[in-house]
Amino acid sequence: MSAPVAFDGHAIAPETAAFLAERHQMLINGEWVDGSGEMVSTDPATGLPLASFATGGAAEIHRAVAAASAAFQGPWRRMPVAERTSLMFRLARIMEANSRLLTELDIVDNGMPSFIAGLTTANCVEMVDYYAGAIMRIAGETIAPPRHIAAETEALTYTLREPVGVAGLIVPWNVPLSTAILKLAPALAAGCTVVVKPSEMTPLSALALGRMVLEAGFPAGVVNIVNGTGPEAGAALAAHPGVDKISFTGSTATGRKIVEAGLGNLKKVALELGGKSPVVIMPEADLALAVPGVALATFFLQGQNCMAGTRIFAHAAIHDALLEGVAAFAGMMKLGHGLDPATQQGPMISDAHAAKVMRAIEGAQEAGATLVAGGSKLGRPGNFIQPTIFTNCTRDMAVMREEIFGPVMAVQRFETDDLDAIAALANDTPYGLSGSVWTRDLSTAHRLVSRIRAGQVSINCHGAVGTNIPFGGYGQSGWGREFGQAGLDAYLETKAVTARL
Ligand code: NAD
Repeated sequence: MSAPVAFDGHAIAPETAAFLAERHQMLINGEWVDGSGEMVSTDPATGLPLASFATGGAAEIHRAVAAASAAFQGPWRRMPVAERTSLMFRLARIMEANSRLLTELDIVDNGMPSFIAGLTTANCVEMVDYYAGAIMRIAGETIAPPRHIAAETEALTYTLREPVGVAGLIVPWNVPLSTAILKLAPALAAGCTVVVKPSEMTPLSALALGRMVLEAGFPAGVVNIVNGTGPEAGAALAAHPGVDKISFTGSTATGRKIVEAGLGNLKKVALELGGKSPVVIMPEADLALAVPGVALATFFLQGQNCMAGTRIFAHAAIHDALLEGVAAFAGMMKLGHGLDPATQQGPMISDAHAAKVMRAIEGAQEAGATLVAGGSKLGRPGNFIQPTIFTNCTRDMAVMREEIFGPVMAVQRFETDDLDAIAALANDTPYGLSGSVWTRDLSTAHRLVSRIRAGQVSINCHGAVGTNIPFGGYGQSGWGREFGQAGLDAYLETKAVTARL
């Protein structure tokens, strides 16, 4: 392995330095091409430019969808499943061999700490392996033929699982490689072809992935990557009549636009949207677990995390001790560049987003919430916001209702022991993505879990995602599920076949 290179005072791999020194294009029909525009990706920890990349709009999306359609009708459809399986396993091995590049690109492009980026890259490799292994097990079933045919003659009815077709994959900036792979891997495994639209703020790991797709030997047009802004490239993809399915991860506001844009051809739409997830701490909770667990429920990934537990409901009997511990934990968190291995929390993704988070913090103070820790932005360059904790929050405050997508915790004290009343507090939100319950009492835990309306509820931990575990939202947190078998089913149609024999 060659020696690391200095990057802004930190060591990066030579392959990462070489990637950042290049200008990047878009992948359409197996070729790297320019588009109508150009953007520059920046390091949110320093504000410094990283790499420039070509961008497109409706014209480039149209070319990419045409390439994906042709590949779907042609080589990808005809390819034996064993060969598709081998291609995906090959992609996983290439990603594994390039783990450091993929990890470092997400660190510098997104600002996430290295321990998180390392984890997500490993999970991405695991996910490609998982879906590669699932291809050979895609199967329909034999079922009883309809009565009117079976009454006359022998008959056979069975189902086929077939790919949905061309899938448009619209990806956010907060976990760039992961949110791309958890769509791309099941889509390809199902036999779909794809047009990926990475976030214009964090395109680099997806573009590196594009190189790996070519190196693995996927036929031209199976994977296309079009960079660009949401209103230009994203909206064109969501509205394109040649796209059979859109899988979107991003904000609830954009999710609504995606649904409207897809009405033209009634394309299938899967949405992974925002959240304002509840964290319930019962009086008998184990504080040694709950203190770091609750802190990280909010502050993991600098709070730019769809699953973030940002509404904390603490029983009055434990409120003060919990808050003292969580505030001490927050005060010790090391903010810094993600490439520094000691960093626990990185910067906000952009100036605009940091300003929005700071407005939310000011708004909470104006509304009468009590600031317990943090509350400040630690200057430029880099939009570092202190882990911030408010208590004495009430249901009507914006800090308890709106997704802030930053390191801001809102705590509300409760007195009751009635589980229905506690669940009513937790469910007082239009969202329903995640949640957690902290207690030593297993009966209380499961009774509360059954009352909380969210796609993922954890006991004595928070945000427990895994390759094989379905993930998605109730309410306005989304439509459908990703990960696991449900993630694969999302890219499969079911065809019923009946034969008179
Ligand atoms: P965003 O909605 O601004 O953007 C997401 C993607 O959509 C980007 O690629 C963007 O370019 C594109 N886009 C924007 N406007 C569009 C339009 N009109 N038509 C089509 N595409 C458009 O979201 P973001 O700021 O990148 O990500 C943060 C949000 O994502 C948060 O709300 C967070 O909760 C959510 N999120 C959800 C999950 C989940 O699994 N539920 C995971 C990660 C992030």
